[in-house]
Amino acid sequence: MTLRFEYHSHTTYFLKRIQAVAELTNTSIKLNIKFPFIYVIFEENVEEFTKALDQHLYNSIFFKNVQICEENPSAKDSLTYLPSSIALCPNCIKEMLEPSSRRFYYPFTSCNSCGYQSSLLIHYPFKRPNTLLNFFKPCKECQEELKTNPFRKNYPLITCIECNIPIKLTDKKGLKVLFANEKEEFKQIFDIAANALKDGKRVRIKTLRGYKRFYLEKDNQSYVLINRLNEEFLVLPMEKRALFSIERPHLYLTSISGEIVEAVGVWDGFTILLMASLNADYCYFDEKEDADLFIDFDLPVTFYEAPKYFINKHFALFRPGSDSLFPKYCENKKTVLYNNFLLYEGVIDKVEHFEQIATEAIVVFQDEPIEHSHIRLQDIARAAFESVLKEHAIDEPTIGVYFSDQVKFFYKKQVTKEVFDFGNIHFEPKRKVVEQFQKRFPKRYEAFLKEGNFILKAAKLIGFDSDFDSFNKLSLSFGGKGGVSIDCRVGESSFDYSSFYASIMSFVLADADAKLIAYSIFESLGDFLGNQAVSIYRETKASHIVLCGAYIANSAFFSRFTRNAPMTKVNIEYPIDNESALLGVQ
Ligand SMILES: [Zn+2]
Ligand SMILES: [Zn+2]
Repeated sequence: MTLRFEYHSHTTYFLKRIQAVAELTNTSIKLNIKFPFIYVIFEENVEEFTKALDQHLYNSIFFKNVQICEENPSAKDSLTYLPSSIALCPNCIKEMLEPSSRRFYYPFTSCNSCGYQSSLLIHYPFKRPNTLLNFFKPCKECQEELKTNPFRKNYPLITCIECNIPIKLTDKKGLKVLFANEKEEFKQIFDIAANALKDGKRVRIKTLRGYKRFYLEKDNQSYVLINRLNEEFLVLPMEKRALFSIERPHLYLTSISGEIVEAVGVWDGFTILLMASLNADYCYFDEKEDADLFIDFDLPVTFYEAPKYFINKHFALFRPGSDSLFPKYCENKKTVLYNNFLLYEGVIDKVEHFEQIATEAIVVFQDEPIEHSHIRLQDIARAAFESVLKEHAIDEPTIGVYFSDQVKFFYKKQVTKEVFDFGNIHFEPKRKVVEQFQKRFPKRYEAFLKEGNFILKAAKLIGFDSDFDSFNKLSLSFGGKGGVSIDCRVGESSFDYSSFYASIMSFVLADADAKLIAYSIFESLGDFLGNQAVSIYRETKASHIVLCGAYIANSAFFSRFTRNAPMTKVNIEYPIDNESALLGVQ
């Protein structure tokens, strides 16, 4: 029998899971991969194996469906498993909450197909001596488990309370409150932390997604940590599925009071155990430092930030900064560096995990602190556009729109050409409305002139002084049906910035609501870029429209753009900007 899994990611944990279930049921299977399909071929144990798959296979954002199929594609080269950076599987969570287990309240519990394994990697290849667990000798029971537990067979990161990584609880003055080294002490630490939260205190924890500060009283900058969904949040089925997928992404949810919140399900051992002790449906967290208690451990782990998922009707995409989507395989043999991430020998991961790099040339998109005799600079917008073509295997003529801190249009027919660029910001202040604005809002006007980013410049005009994400959230919180029309048009050879900003100024002078204007900026740009894209699409008789860039994850923008251009294609398993460029490099 052959099962065909549709799985849209070049990560390997899902494969590893299928293999563990096969081992559990003593089923001999053959795995063939023909992206985006995984073929599982087996002759025996049909009922037992399929039943166990049903029980042990977790839900992944990338897993679409499974079918029995006739096809039997030829085998590809065998794959080396990469460490994962995902949440914990249901089996491991159960173990952590079972008082009789060797891992009761032990936050470093994980198995071959779950957990933040890459956080503990020092460098490839993924073997115990190359991980931070090299300094901990597995106890007798763990050594036995390496041979007998199909989910931890030869698992490089095996550990339990008997051979533990200690954690510590300290107070504000840095004094040690408790050091957990024995069974009861691990639970005590999380119980003390949970009680502190109930007393209105704040607890900062070193989680595997970085240092986070937890508390019960919400403020403006809070994220919501969800343990169990309740009626407090209005969650669509697609959102619910994503929220508790093994990738545990951040999502924008609407609360019952109509507020937009950025929420995420419990992700690692620390967050799971904190919420188990707190026994609450949800709590809040942020990234600030000041707290009453601290839970920490002495290992220099690599943090992988959460995937940031954006859902708009039947479209879904990842925002930039979604570290946990990596490491993964990439069908591009070049060596490419972007910020913390490197593509080398077909693997994308954080730079520090590659011990030695021997390459003829390195592609970069910006100044990088490296020395090499052959560094090639490429345009990130172009590479982001190419990455969508690669993800969809498109080779017909295509129009591309890149919407980020710069805006560019591309047309590809064999070769990629840039057809339009918003160009450098040119602002002509000689208008009456500008004069009035400057008089009434001198501080905002000054901030506007100083700001270099074209969207944040607009934000300054409505008196908003923060980063893009917050401005994005402000526009999302507009509850009305439609916005006002902000002037978007093409000037002589670039975007007409003067009319754009003057039009925003006139709405501010008319005392329009800040949320309405923020919403309208995105909506109008969505309309404008969508219309432009469609007219070039018709003119050139292209087959597709591609949309990419960090700023497209805004519902007002995205809805308008795709209403004009319903044939739009976006990245699937890559974030919409930055890291996707590693795939799209030419
Ligand atoms: Zn597990
Ligand atoms: Zn052990």
